[in-house]
Amino acid sequence: MTSSSSALKAKYSSKSVLMATAALAGAATLLVPSTATYAAETSTSAAAANSAAEATSVVKVSYSAVLYQTTGTSSTPLTFAQWQQLGFPAPTTVGSIPGTVYFKYGTSPAVLAQAPGQPAHVLTWDQWVTAGMPAPQNKSNEGLIKLSWAPEIARMTNLQTGAGYPMSFQEWANNGFTAPAVQQRIIGDQFYQYAGSPDVWYAGPGVNRKITFAEWVGAGQPTPSVRGTVSATAASNAWGLIKPVNARVTSEFSTARMHPTLGYVRPHLGIDLGAACGVPVQATRGGVVSSSTYDSGGGYSVTINHGIVNGVPLYSSYLHLRQPGLAAGTQVATGTVIGYVGTTGSSTGCHLHFEIKPNNQAQNPRNFLAF
Ligand SMILES: [Zn+2]
Repeated sequence: MTSSSSALKAKYSSKSVLMATAALAGAATLLVPSTATYAAETSTSAAAANSAAEATSVVKVSYSAVLYQTTGTSSTPLTFAQWQQLGFPAPTTVGSIPGTVYFKYGTSPAVLAQAPGQPAHVLTWDQWVTAGMPAPQNKSNEGLIKLSWAPEIARMTNLQTGAGYPMSFQEWANNGFTAPAVQQRIIGDQFYQYAGSPDVWYAGPGVNRKITFAEWVGAGQPTPSVRGTVSATAASNAWGLIKPVNARVTSEFSTARMHPTLGYVRPHLGIDLGAACGVPVQATRGGVVSSSTYDSGGGYSVTINHGIVNGVPLYSSYLHLRQPGLAAGTQVATGTVIGYVGTTGSSTGCHLHFEIKPNNQAQNPRNFLAF
């Protein structure tokens, strides 16, 4: 038991990462005896050990190198200089330093001892017996929790409300490396996504970050809530735009080109994306559908008003849709399906004609996002 605990400490001491190992998952079972063990066993040697200590002025406990000078019911840690001043008296090892606080958390059966001015220490059975088996304070609403699917440990300040914070390695050390309770979820924790992105994030007392698919599965695949609508997007470009369809460009933006069906030079004020008929068309960004029309040129088409983006009123248009798209006035988020690829209007085959219009004037969509 002791060697497992030491090995665990050594393992963590050699790492700068915050407890990033699955070894902790098993820690709860190997660090300490159970409450039942503490309660069931008794000893008669503890009282004798304590009375022997009272006559001694310089003492220490077995689990710490710190020397104390005791006077009655209080004790003071000795500095080296103070010990020198006293003539280096050999310390007597005692079961308990006066003023030591004994306690246990609601998440672990371990009894911890905290001597004045010292970090807490998880007592072994023998150390607790030698200390006279003091009844520990029950900090039943506090403790340490590790999620079964993540390496971080949360120091819980209120188990009932789920309040806590990420525990540092140092604080864990100061808690005597108390084994955390291992749980799949913590009260009040949240799984969430940003609109337009498949990534799942977790927010809880010990962890607040994007999680992996394996972690999400380990957490029981909870349904994430959605945060953000208009501005939150998977797009990495400065305009926050996504491609309306995933397809290659079949015709570029141009201010002068030979129109394929009309047979004369006419500007092509958008980019053609060669998607198959029926492929869903996604809003490049959130906004409101400002028009949803049919005419012999663009066929069924939708225009979205994205509001002011980067200081500019921004619009986008989607032409040649298979059928009427979303109605004018409809609120859309980035990625909302606003219609389906078609070949209505003046078109030679299935494709999406896509326009970006800052100040309502078409510019090359390649200037706004990568295709
Ligand atoms: Zn076109």
